[in-house]
Amino acid sequence: MIIREIKARTILSRSGIYGVDYSINPYSGCAHGCTYCYARFTFIHRNLDPSDWGKIVFVKINAPELLRREIRSAKKGYILLSSVTDPYQYIEKKYELTRRILEVILRKQFPTIILTKSPLVTRDIDLFKKFKDIEVGVTITTLNEEIKNIFEPNAPSIRSRIQALKEIVRSGVRNYAFIAPLLPIIKIDEIESLIMELKEIGVDRVMIDKLNIKAKNWITLNEALDKSHYIDKREFWRKTKSPEYWMKMRKELIKLSRKLSINIDIIF
Ligand code: SF4
Repeated sequence: MIIREIKARTILSRSGIYGVDYSINPYSGCAHGCTYCYARFTFIHRNLDPSDWGKIVFVKINAPELLRREIRSAKKGYILLSSVTDPYQYIEKKYELTRRILEVILRKQFPTIILTKSPLVTRDIDLFKKFKDIEVGVTITTLNEEIKNIFEPNAPSIRSRIQALKEIVRSGVRNYAFIAPLLPIIKIDEIESLIMELKEIGVDRVMIDKLNIKAKNWITLNEALDKSHYIDKREFWRKTKSPEYWMKMRKELIKLSRKLSINIDIIF
């Protein structure tokens, strides 16, 4: 893994994501290197090969100072941390950029949404508790660590993420679980087991999105599928490309939401 410190020109970016006004990405690149990640398009903007996603991370060392300046003139709105990187990937332990950014946001009390795959997020529960409006989310794609290792080879284990969610719930901070991307190899009864576990923990809500093919992620997905011995590659792609398949999944998820009496936001 190559870690490169850089000075960013801006840090508070306008966002086109529904319900979000700004995004902040303290890092460019992501050490988790998920095979389905389409944030790799940001490497194209840096004249880098998108297949190097997960091998290089740029650390925006001036991010907190930049934010201090930029937030002064910004209209209050929802900030997402982060949209194209994981704000709690392991180098955050050393750089503490996300923590220092949160301290800046806290002074202005902009409403904030966190999304991560890392249990390091629990380090900042003390800060989350001081926000008037914050929602902290953890991505959990499957309960099967073997599948996780195929598609999210360098991300923390599923068990450690569930444990992190438990701690966030226990702290009283508003929270959500993000089941995304929904992989076409995950059966509806597996999703049911996952959602039941999330319900048992007491998560406030569950958001689900489907697998999207963008920014050449099909190349790394194919490589991952080639390494796996039990996933039917043709079936995987047939379902991924089938609007009917996703429509059927949507209907199944709506039924599941009613059956389990849990609030599921399906965003596909
Ligand atoms: S954790 Fe998120 S940003 Fe990082 S590689 Fe995975 S999907 Fe991409």
